[in-house]
Amino acid sequence: MKLDGKVAIVTGSASGIGAEIAKRYVSEGANVVIADLNLEAAQAKAAELVAMGPGKAIGVAMDVTSEDAVNAGVAATVQQFGRVDILVSNAGIQIVHRIEDFPYADWKKMLAIHLDGAFLTTKACIPHMKSQGGGAIIYMGSVHSHEASPLKSAYVTAKHGLLGLARVVAKEGGSSGIRANVICPGFVRTPLVDKQIPEQAKSLGISEDEVVKKVMLGETVDGEFTTVADVAEVALFFAGFETNALSGQSLTVSHGWHMG
Ligand code: NAD
Repeated sequence: MKLDGKVAIVTGSASGIGAEIAKRYVSEGANVVIADLNLEAAQAKAAELVAMGPGKAIGVAMDVTSEDAVNAGVAATVQQFGRVDILVSNAGIQIVHRIEDFPYADWKKMLAIHLDGAFLTTKACIPHMKSQGGGAIIYMGSVHSHEASPLKSAYVTAKHGLLGLARVVAKEGGSSGIRANVICPGFVRTPLVDKQIPEQAKSLGISEDEVVKKVMLGETVDGEFTTVADVAEVALFFAGFETNALSGQSLTVSHGWHMG
């Protein structure tokens, strides 16, 4: 098992990509904290994973934009499992509008969840990682960390920002054995994407089928969605890679949508 005895916090892991990463980590022997907005959903996901094993899991309520909630969730992790080896900052939402129609409140919400959330969870985990001699921090970026799309000013800005944060964390954390990397998935069929299909069809004046075939998968090498399992595999690779040789990097998993 690649993560035997490791302790991981995965934010936004009651659903979608985060849930699959948590499952993969537990299957590799890690003890995982499901940190999500809704306590019941987080605990239900944790119970599912405990039944599967061999790692353990607990659910905690954490709004990643709240410093108090983040600090409490990290403290609960250490209280329950004694340490924090892996942070996957994954919680995220999508809001799409043309810039001139983008409500300022929605812009701030997007940046708060994606960037403040990444900052606050990193800040809370680093002291534990330092005192333990190292750790792995993984940010959920996107192809939109490297490419732009219409309607996604806030998302693209936030996902590009994560590259900068990861590079700084890699430099500051190097002497303490703390590695920071970014996973950049293409479109993955989760609730976050399902919600966008009719919204984009309306904003762009095209059919939902065209949104999927042209907007989402048009630039891939094979017209295929990336899967939650694909992303979890990369998250396992980053978590299990034990040296600073792999730090400050981003890895794109997108059926060739973005190459580079
Ligand atoms: P999802 O909607 O299935 O899951 C997101 C989870 O984040 C939910 O459980 C939600 O409750 C949680 N969440 C939302 N706001 C939160 C907050 N403030 N605090 C804590 N938790 C919060 O979405 P997903 O597709 O699994 O997305 C996960 C991450 O992957 C996001 O960062 C997203 O930007 C990124 N991503 C998704 C895709 C894709 O195509 N689905 C592609 C690239 C990157």
